[in-house]
Amino acid sequence: MARYQYQETTKTNAPCSFCTTSAIIDYKDAESLRKFMSGQAKISKKRKTGTCTKHQRELAQAIKRARFLALVPYVIR
Ligand SMILES: [Zn+2]
Repeated sequence: MARYQYQETTKTNAPCSFCTTSAIIDYKDAESLRKFMSGQAKISKKRKTGTCTKHQRELAQAIKRARFLALVPYVIR
């Protein structure tokens, strides 16, 4: 079975924006959450945005809460 090799093209060495600015992740702040979502309203990978593991977890939870409250969409087609 051939092994599928997936190459990530978008890498960043930028430090976590939440660690550097000590900003608080708020599920009610839909505008800032949208920056960490893709064009199809998916949650962006931390590899792409440079968010650290701790903040990526908090961010994902905040986006899921905001989706439930219909502040951000589940999907954009
Ligand atoms: Zn962080």
